[in-house]
Amino acid sequence: MKPTARAKVVIRRCERYDVEAIRRIVREALEAFDLRPSGRTLIKPNVVASGPLFQHAHTRPEFIEGVVAGLRDRDAGMTELAVGERCGITIPTRTAFEGAEYYPMFKRARVKHYHFEEEPQVEIPLCHPKRLRDYLFTPEPVARADFFVNCPKFKSHPWTTVTFGVKNYIGIQDDRHRLIDHDHRLNDKLRDLQYVTQPQFLAIDGIIAGEGRMLTPIPFDLGLVICSNNQVALDSVCSRIIGLDPREIDHIRFAHEEGFGPIDLEAIDLGGDVTLAEAVARAKGFKVGLVRVEKYFEGTSISAYAGPPPGSERTDYCWGGCPGAIEEAIEILRLYDKEVDGKMPRMHVVFGAYRGPIDAKPGEKVVFIGDCAEWQGDLGGKLVSVENLYRDRSTKDPHTAKHDDIYAKMLAVTRKLAAARNKTHVRLEGCPVSVAEQVLALVSIGKTKNPYFAADQVIQFNKGYLMWRSATWAKRVAGKPYQHHGSFAARGAAAPELDPPTRG
Ligand code: SF4
Repeated sequence: MKPTARAKVVIRRCERYDVEAIRRIVREALEAFDLRPSGRTLIKPNVVASGPLFQHAHTRPEFIEGVVAGLRDRDAGMTELAVGERCGITIPTRTAFEGAEYYPMFKRARVKHYHFEEEPQVEIPLCHPKRLRDYLFTPEPVARADFFVNCPKFKSHPWTTVTFGVKNYIGIQDDRHRLIDHDHRLNDKLRDLQYVTQPQFLAIDGIIAGEGRMLTPIPFDLGLVICSNNQVALDSVCSRIIGLDPREIDHIRFAHEEGFGPIDLEAIDLGGDVTLAEAVARAKGFKVGLVRVEKYFEGTSISAYAGPPPGSERTDYCWGGCPGAIEEAIEILRLYDKEVDGKMPRMHVVFGAYRGPIDAKPGEKVVFIGDCAEWQGDLGGKLVSVENLYRDRSTKDPHTAKHDDIYAKMLAVTRKLAAARNKTHVRLEGCPVSVAEQVLALVSIGKTKNPYFAADQVIQFNKGYLMWRSATWAKRVAGKPYQHHGSFAARGAAAPELDPPTRG
């Protein structure tokens, strides 16, 4: 990859979500980087979850409004200015945009928007040596972007330690494609996604950052907006602000190793009205979220056991899949029911090829989660053998990947748990088993409130769901297919410029 001529990062003080202040910071950063947007300009926020209980999970609308205005101040022939996102798995982006109050902002800012799952999905070939697969799918507006603007939220992440610029790319794929390789090779997947497009400009919302988790983060008043002309450089500086070595964060190091940008401070020009040392002082005590599932549930009624994921790619833990998903799932339930830990019956959750004992007393359910769960032993006086159902990733073809409807998932999980009501154990299949499915499983076993039916969610969720399904149905009826096979030729100017040797 041909990286930006010289990576620059600007750290700016910004204590409030003041649109004009954000606009000024963005305009001045674009001036400092000598950047002017032109052609099809696309802003990618992070709107993984939203609504009253998820206030700190997403890039705030005032932030995007300021970015839009700052880009317009530097307009050099934008033919389109749009905001696009595919929010958290199973949630319609329409619901996430509504919960984050993006629609009034789109109107105020007169900016177009894309719900990525409703756009045609186009095929991008990959040819770098370390790729997980030879192609992947992305929504057409991403592939066509000439000037790509990445606007992540400054947050911790239970799978990948942090989520800044590189990690925000998980939202440039629709669910069925996003779930492929969203496992112990998640960091490799994030590396591969870098080949789809590269942002000419990034601005991260670190005004109120999110610590601890990604869907239900704890607000942290950081008071910073950080801009860059290079994705790896931005992630590198953000990592250092919270006291982490970016080389220790796999997805950032992988992107650096592929040539997407510098990781060392000597190779990055730092500017702004806050020094790195001052930013570090502001972030003192910021918690990251990388906690193994056994430790995470210590002291609760859930005992967790984790063995390694599949043997052919042996690592000691699946950081990108099912174990992290259950941590997010229980945190969601805690938001809806403060008593959930007290209500949850004693139960056991098992991941990967676990070889040790499971200390399940009579009546305590054991849930084996994920295709790679594997165990043999005694449960309730009977020998139980749980087989590894994992299918090698080479057998999963994104061309034929199917959409898993949330209501179908709800039905499947509910039926499965009902059928196992009087059994010692139950197996949840999938790779990964999503946060949504694990929420539903915990709700079913614990008889706690189902967040999907919560009063503040049900209308908004169903409205977004019905509009999404109607929009995709109408496109299908009009003869517009969901995805286009074959290398997509009309890529915009934001497509990475590859050096010939790296293509081999
Ligand atoms: S089934 Fe779950 S734990 Fe196993 S490899 Fe897949 S995502 Fe990881």
